[in-house]
Amino acid sequence: MEQYFAVIGDPIAHSLSPVMHEAGYKALGIEARYLKFRVEANKLNEAVSGLRALGFSGCNVTIPHKERVLRYIDELTIEAKRAGAVNTIKFTPEKIIGHNTDGLGFVRSIQEKVANLKDCKAVILGAGGAARGIGMALANSGVNLLILNIAPEMTEQLVRDIRSAGGSAVGGEFKPGAWLKDADLLVQATSVGLHGENYPFELTGISPKTLVVDILFGPKPTPFLQNARSLGCDTLNGLGMLLYQGALAWEFWLGGKAPVEPMWTALLNEVEARQKS
Ligand code: NDP
Repeated sequence: MEQYFAVIGDPIAHSLSPVMHEAGYKALGIEARYLKFRVEANKLNEAVSGLRALGFSGCNVTIPHKERVLRYIDELTIEAKRAGAVNTIKFTPEKIIGHNTDGLGFVRSIQEKVANLKDCKAVILGAGGAARGIGMALANSGVNLLILNIAPEMTEQLVRDIRSAGGSAVGGEFKPGAWLKDADLLVQATSVGLHGENYPFELTGISPKTLVVDILFGPKPTPFLQNARSLGCDTLNGLGMLLYQGALAWEFWLGGKAPVEPMWTALLNEVEARQKS
């Protein structure tokens, strides 16, 4: 019997998840469809119950619903509890289970570049939903974190949560500083750059040994990544994170191993096609 999956968010038109997941179903001969639905915040409850009533097996949840959706979930995995956000929902006959694959997806996406994360020093810019998932997953891998965000209460909350989960984190002001000289990893996890805008500060003084990741993805490097490259740093965008959070969601729903190669090829082809159009 055909299975149904979806991603819900607002806006949603740009989502690459359907292309990525459907390429995976095709590669493994799985009878399934993956759709995308724009859902406004005041319709979130109805959308989640509606998908369940229609017999969907699961869905992804994206901006701006990842935190708000918690109230419509029956059971949370440890990853969702730690992140305080859900990006993956599984519908079972008995209950709605909320999971979060963003953080581990990020960690998988950098593993080719950083073999051993234990005792690395990482700086995360931002303390929103994505930064929380990434922060929790990095801390769980033994990384020492510095969190820099504009709103100090968000920074403090994230630092507190990471420490209560046994991780190592401190907070600081959202500005350049001595941290530029000795970070092994710098993660841009704010929403700055979504519309191609410049970053509020330059990375002048950054050590060229720092791996710099911007979790935004698009056909062109963001101004943030261009700045890092011009200073000699190795860089990554967020497409790898998108792939692995999707692969982990797939595995949560369907079991087995997600076919990451065809999913990755589909993502690259789609990004290239959109660049041309
Ligand atoms: P949130 O809205 O939860 O968080 C936004 C963050 O950006 C907050 O920390 C906010 O700071 C900060 N911010 C917003 N505007 C500015 C500004 N002008 N200057 C400095 N900081 C600013 O969003 P998410 O965390 O869910 O998503 C963040 C980005 O990550 C999005 O662009 C999203 O597309 C991308 N993303 C990529 C994924 C991937 O798979 N590659 C997965 C998930 C997200 P403050 O608290 O001070 O307001």
